[in-house]
Amino acid sequence: MKDHGLNAPSNFIRSMISKDISSGKHSGRVLTRFPPEPNGYLHIGHAKSVCLNFSLASENNGACNLRFDDTNPEKESQEYVDAIKENIKWLGFKWNGDVRYSSNYFDHLYNLAMQLIQNGKAFVCSLSAEQSREFRGTLTEPGKNSPDRNRSIRENLNLFKQMKGGEFSDGAYTLRAKIDMESPNINMRDPIIYRIRHVSHHQTGDKWCIYPTYDFTHCISDAIENVTHSLCTLEFEDHRPLYDWILNNLELDSLRVICDLSDSDMTFVLPQQTEFAKLKLNYTIMGKRKLKEMVEAGLVDGWDDPRLPTLAGMRRRGFTAASIRNFCEIAGVSRSEGTVDLSMLEHCVREDLDQCASRVMCVLNPMKVTIRNIKKGEVENLSLQNHPKNESMGTRIVPFTREIYIDKSDFEENPAPGFKRLVLGGEVRLRGSYVIKCEEILRNGEGEIIELICSADRETLGRRPEGRKVKGVIHWVSAVHGQEATLMLYDRLFMVENPEAKEIADYKEFLNPESLSVIKNCMIEPSALEGRERKHYQFEREGYFILDIEGENMEYPVFNRTITLRDSWGK
Ligand code: ATP
Ligand code: MG
Repeated sequence: MKDHGLNAPSNFIRSMISKDISSGKHSGRVLTRFPPEPNGYLHIGHAKSVCLNFSLASENNGACNLRFDDTNPEKESQEYVDAIKENIKWLGFKWNGDVRYSSNYFDHLYNLAMQLIQNGKAFVCSLSAEQSREFRGTLTEPGKNSPDRNRSIRENLNLFKQMKGGEFSDGAYTLRAKIDMESPNINMRDPIIYRIRHVSHHQTGDKWCIYPTYDFTHCISDAIENVTHSLCTLEFEDHRPLYDWILNNLELDSLRVICDLSDSDMTFVLPQQTEFAKLKLNYTIMGKRKLKEMVEAGLVDGWDDPRLPTLAGMRRRGFTAASIRNFCEIAGVSRSEGTVDLSMLEHCVREDLDQCASRVMCVLNPMKVTIRNIKKGEVENLSLQNHPKNESMGTRIVPFTREIYIDKSDFEENPAPGFKRLVLGGEVRLRGSYVIKCEEILRNGEGEIIELICSADRETLGRRPEGRKVKGVIHWVSAVHGQEATLMLYDRLFMVENPEAKEIADYKEFLNPESLSVIKNCMIEPSALEGRERKHYQFEREGYFILDIEGENMEYPVFNRTITLRDSWGK
């Protein structure tokens, strides 16, 4: 993995970390964490957070933990845990030590909650969800104290134990931090830190029927792991006072004792939360809730549908991990929300594929061509470069035969001025092969062209034709050796720039009906199917393609178009 080091663009978090290192804060250490909730697959927005956390750590000889933030068991599952781990590995990052789970700390969290109660800093509340909303106040009105706020410590301890013991039904009680119902920051108005949920958890099974909230769990998990820099997105800015309140109101020694100080010269320092703006992309829906909705409604073909902004989808479509990392780097890190143009991501993908994709030929809309002066059964194995600018990518054998396919659109009976490809009586260069001349058109009963009869100038292999110029070069595939393939061409999933705009009541009405075109009976040169590997190809003149993820198992190979050669949107 490339270390960004000195060449990395500066941003406010990089600068802050450099400063912290030189001032010796956190004893000069950098430990970050990526904390996904396993309630869906990762999307490109998460990739930004992954790249940021992992690269800041590696640039500074630090480490980055992977911690599943798993406090909402109803919405979470092992499937998502597995997919997220896979996504991160694919992006090219390695987490520090074992995978961690907030649920690993449930015992500690429970004891620390007991400690808050003991110190008069938390109480068990019997207000219903609806009552709590009423008591909470609004942005302009202060909240009101719960009638249970002054319950005795003893009673609180007992009730909380009984909550844990499963003696109450969901929602009967909550545990709340005792902070300030008049705080202008609503998050500080005696926030709930534990709730009763009689549900099994994907990691802890039926051990617990009370679960801590995100706000209580996150800061403590960071402290337990001795995280130095806890990076999150801007919507948590208003939660930072609560993050700090919880850590500052626990007894430091009790945190220190459970903290993972595996490295002996680590000193225990409280973690610090810093927020940055979420990545947003136009023509894209990012929130996991809506992605899940689309998957469950069958509007797309699963979480890895190549039209989705999920990492699984992008991988299946053929986006490279390097291009996504590069995109996240140049999209930058700031504190102001802005939407990034999808074409910037596409640019990064093209740039990477242009370098790494082998060239092959595939005819999307085949028309037969018979070359008169090539003998029946003759096979000439031509050797073509896999990459026009990179010899180290080697060559491949492309069989040339009497019968070949070219694309229908590369022949015109009534050509417009400037048409440079094949016309009756005209010549064109077959890529990597001979110049051919069209001498005759064969038609079926309806008068449609079904075949062209041509002749090849056999002096033109790797040589210019004598005494004339042939401008057009077209791709072709041997009709004998070519193999049938299906191509999936993708376009933007949404027809509007911002499918999540306020004016849009239902984003589903703005799905692009042409986001997927399936092209059957394409003809592809045999080398592209050797070993049925998932390799990146440029199908000459048609775009970048990759064998679909199911590739090895399919009778007819299916290729996904990763991206067109040029940006043709709106043209
Ligand atoms: P979503 O809103 O898409 O459902 P989330 O924030 O609920 O995402 P989490 O699993 O909680 O998803 O996120 C894990 C980490 O990724 C968090 O630190 C979160 O701040 C970060 N993250 C989520 N979405 C983005 C984004 N669009 N850009 C940058 N970071 C993001
Ligand atoms: Mg979330």
